[in-house]
Amino acid sequence: MKRGQCPKCGSCRVIPNARIIDRNGEYQDMSLSVRIETKPGALLFKGAKEFELKAHICGECGYAELYAAEPGKLWDAQLSSQGNGAPQGKR
Ligand SMILES: [Zn+2]
Repeated sequence: MKRGQCPKCGSCRVIPNARIIDRNGEYQDMSLSVRIETKPGALLFKGAKEFELKAHICGECGYAELYAAEPGKLWDAQLSSQGNGAPQGKR
């Protein structure tokens, strides 16, 4: 779908990177996101990190796919949530 064609109906009317709103009561609209706790074993500060999800939506049949906006950072957070493993590079 990122290549601009719907896998369901074959249409090229694909809306890329649409922001998905996550309504939060009276508060400001948030973007839909995933949360990863980089220190899930910690008592208080679990090092939660949030990553925005974007949708690619077909303008013909309405099919929608979700993609993390920053997959590299998401994966780094996932790595650091498994043990103390600092991903390659910093720290
Ligand atoms: Zn479609």
